[in-house]
Amino acid sequence: MSTRTVPDRDRIKAAVVDMLSAIGDDPAREGLLETPRRIADMYLEIFDGLWSDPREHLRVGFEVAHDEMVILRNIPFYSMCEHHFLPFHGEAHVGYIPDGRVVGISKLARVVEGYARRPQIQEQLTSQIAEAIMEVLKPDGVGVVIEAEHLCMTMRGVRKPGSRMITSAMRGDFKQSHVTRAEFLSLLQGKH
Ligand code: ZN
Repeated sequence: MSTRTVPDRDRIKAAVVDMLSAIGDDPAREGLLETPRRIADMYLEIFDGLWSDPREHLRVGFEVAHDEMVILRNIPFYSMCEHHFLPFHGEAHVGYIPDGRVVGISKLARVVEGYARRPQIQEQLTSQIAEAIMEVLKPDGVGVVIEAEHLCMTMRGVRKPGSRMITSAMRGDFKQSHVTRAEFLSLLQGKH
């Protein structure tokens, strides 16, 4: 487990001042004066998933006699690549087969958001969402597919605008049964 501390707004501001100097700009020039404060406030917002446990959203599930696949498709998200601190963003698709216990669909979107709002890599984001649902709802299976564009690939480096990375995490029936997995993937193909 990593050692996390509470966020420190003043330290973020000081670090941004340092960084602006280090890249050769002048943190005292007018256009940059408020930048450290803006970035600090922004980081507190876009990284607020760091100090929350997204699994909490799933604990308010309810019992129903539904044992067919439930899918929430095209959940938009924004995250930050932890390697470059540039955004990656796209859509997540989440499906599961309840074993008596379901959650409101907004809760699935909250789980995606909670894990997205951290320094992340897409592969880990995908598996964390799947693991959280498996752990809390204990369904028969979970499938998560994420499609995203990474600014670290499009505005720098290999510069391939429009290319999207696709990752998936399959658990339970979604992993064991190719019929279940095929059903899930075909339902994702329906027109966006
Ligand atoms: Zn990156």
